[in-house]
Amino acid sequence: MNTHIKDLHAATLDRIAAAAKRASRTSTDICLTAVSKQQPDHRIADMLAIGQNVFGENKVQEAQARWQDRFADARANIQLRMIGPLQTNKAVAACALFDVIETLDREKLAKALVKAMDKTGRTPEIFVQVNTGEEPQKSGILPGELDAFIKTLRQIYDLHPTGLMCIPPAGTLISGQAPGPHFALLAKLAARNGIENLSMGMSSDFETAIELGATHIRVGSALFGARD
Ligand SMILES: *Cc1c(COP(=O)(O)O)cnc(C)c1O
Repeated sequence: MNTHIKDLHAATLDRIAAAAKRASRTSTDICLTAVSKQQPDHRIADMLAIGQNVFGENKVQEAQARWQDRFADARANIQLRMIGPLQTNKAVAACALFDVIETLDREKLAKALVKAMDKTGRTPEIFVQVNTGEEPQKSGILPGELDAFIKTLRQIYDLHPTGLMCIPPAGTLISGQAPGPHFALLAKLAARNGIENLSMGMSSDFETAIELGATHIRVGSALFGARD
C-alpha cells in the first residue's frame, strides 16, 4: 500500500468535513467520486484497498478496459459514474457499464439512452449536464433551455433525472470568473425543476461547491496525484 494515496484520501476527507461544517451540513451527505481517468492502475488498486467505492470516468473505452477487464473483480463492489461527454453510438456500452450517467445534455442522446436501456435491461441513474458558463466548446445544455429539456425528458422519454451536473469555466482565477456563481446557478436550476442532487466541484473548488449545496463532488488529482 502506497501511503501517499492514503494521505491524499484522508486529506480530501478532511477538506470535505471542514467545508461541510462551515456550511452546517453533514459530510456523509456529500458523495465523493474518485475520478480515476488517466490514473495508473497501482493508484486505483490503492484507492480500492482504502475502501473508496465510488469512481468516475470520462471515456467509455478507457472505463471498459479498467472496470470490465483489469479491475473486473472490483466492479461489483463499486459505483461507477460516467462524467464525460457521451456519443450516441456509445450509449449501449455506457448503459451496460455505468451505474450513473451524469452527462445527458441533448434529446438525441436521451433517445439513444432509452433504446440502450431497453436493449441492455439496465437503467442507470441519470443526471443532466448544464453548460453554466455557456461556453461554445463545452458539453451541457444551456441554462435557458434546461426547464423545457427536463419536461421533454419526463413527458416524452419517461426519463427522470435525479441530478444536475456542471463544470464551470476553466482558469477561473485568470479570467476573473469564480466558480461560485456557476454552482449557485446550478442549485437554483435544480430547485426549480424539483431535482435533488448536484454534481459540482473538483479538486480546486469542491469546498465552494459544498458550501453551495453539492451532493456529489468529482475529485481526481487531489485524491490520486497528477494524471499521466
Ligand atoms: C477530470 C474531471 C474531474 C476531476 O478533475 P480534478 O481537477 O483532477 O479533480 C472532475 N469532473 C470531470 C467532468 C472531469 O473530467
